[in-house]
Amino acid sequence: MRKIFELDRRDIVPTPLEVVKMQKIPERSVSPRIVRMMDEAIALFEDLARPRGLMEYFETGGFPGIYEGGGLNAPDGPVPSIVARSEATALMAATMGDALALKCADLFAHGSASLGYMLDVVNSAAAERLGRRMCSLFLEHLCPEPCEEKIKEIKAQYYCPGHCGWHISGQEKLFAALNPGEIGMSLNERWVMRPLKSISGIIAAAPIEVHRFGQDFSFCPACRERKCIERLIMLENG
Ligand code: SF4
Repeated sequence: MRKIFELDRRDIVPTPLEVVKMQKIPERSVSPRIVRMMDEAIALFEDLARPRGLMEYFETGGFPGIYEGGGLNAPDGPVPSIVARSEATALMAATMGDALALKCADLFAHGSASLGYMLDVVNSAAAERLGRRMCSLFLEHLCPEPCEEKIKEIKAQYYCPGHCGWHISGQEKLFAALNPGEIGMSLNERWVMRPLKSISGIIAAAPIEVHRFGQDFSFCPACRERKCIERLIMLENG
């Protein structure tokens, strides 16, 4: 299965609460001015987002060849074992188009840095939703209704180069295998994706216990985002 998805932007537009959480500020300390700016940034997002995704079913056994990348991964990490224990996996890339990043740059360049910053945060929150949307599309593919009870127990989560021990240079082999140029995505020489705020990685469909892991890897002390915690909570409750 290889498929391009023209995504509905309503599925990925973040709520104001998600935007607040992304900034790690307490909800009660959000001023009316910030609320207005958030609303403006979300409206810009709704106007400019052009979300598209690409997914290709991938044999789990082929993952070590992708994961090894340029040999720069941490010696430990959760991803190889999660993939090895998964029922099904797919390579995935998705983007919101380049108009949003261009708008951010334009706002910064023309004296509206605060709104530019807020739009950047909205884009980051939307990227989280984009990843979840791609996971739910993979599950829908695996489990069209009516669905066996066993399959209903399966949860899909995505794991990306640049996080949790998988070195960002892993993008190179991932892109070579998936070829997301078809949806307008590319890599620069430092493995940064264009358009900015795009996502790529592997979706692993597995029982929830496979996705549970601690934060005791060698690289965790340097991690500020700790996204694994929030993502697991959403998966447990989803
Ligand atoms: S703490 Fe950070 S680096 Fe460690 S597993 Fe979680 S997200 Fe990955």
